[in-house]
Amino acid sequence: MKKLAVLVLLVLAGAEGTPSATLYDQSIAQVLGKQFSSPALSYLVINVQTGTRVAARWENLGQPVPAGSMVKPFTALAYGEAHGYRYPAFACRGTADGCWLPRGHGRIGMSEAIGYSCNAYFRKLAAEVSRQDVEQISFRFGFQDRFALPFPLSLVGLRGGPQIPPEQIVRAFVRLTDQSGEPGVRELLKGMALSARAGTASAIQQSLPGAPVLAKTGTAPCVHNPRAPGDGYTIILYPADSPRLALLVRVHGVPGARAAGVGGEILRTLITGE
Ligand SMILES: [Zn+2]
Repeated sequence: MKKLAVLVLLVLAGAEGTPSATLYDQSIAQVLGKQFSSPALSYLVINVQTGTRVAARWENLGQPVPAGSMVKPFTALAYGEAHGYRYPAFACRGTADGCWLPRGHGRIGMSEAIGYSCNAYFRKLAAEVSRQDVEQISFRFGFQDRFALPFPLSLVGLRGGPQIPPEQIVRAFVRLTDQSGEPGVRELLKGMALSARAGTASAIQQSLPGAPVLAKTGTAPCVHNPRAPGDGYTIILYPADSPRLALLVRVHGVPGARAAGVGGEILRTLITGE
């Protein structure tokens, strides 16, 4: 517990850009490098307060990757901006509605749709989102122009969703948490908390039971050679109230829900230093 407190202080010290933060970043990057060396794994860790990279293990960080369902909170805001930030409730009947969960999610609102990454909900929502709404959101969150293709399925995260460089994904989520007081954002962060607690990112609980975490998963076409059916992604922000760390993880050949488990392990190492 004592060690944890010291490390948390070091992370906090990072906000002032003190030398200890650099030492912390360097040593934690080494610890991560040793413990998470699988070639199937890519990760990027950002210190939210300084905006600096804490650690990165990612081949070609400038190359856009398919964001998959990680796009859903931004699709939600694009809808919200044009609809007075009132999010609808939709019924998901599963396979019949094009959702990944065969039996369906039932009637749900926005927070559940994000927490459980419901495709049926977002198919219905995306049908009411215009390209102009998407352009505004892209600008607000620093996405480049490939955000919307293919439209509107990309807004659901299907067919890989939009192509976005990893660092842009992380920084967009940091911006989203920064804007927690803006209209329509609270429901989305609530959905990301639900995702980490009981939804598609709940494998985080295995490493960090009860930890205050925001998360969103994505499963997208594999970008590796040899090809797997898909790659799993998870974005994690910690702690939920005022994130200090943002972590994007990608695991080759597994769904996003499994990548969340690896993300939890990495976050535990970042928090405990071991
Ligand atoms: Zn569903």
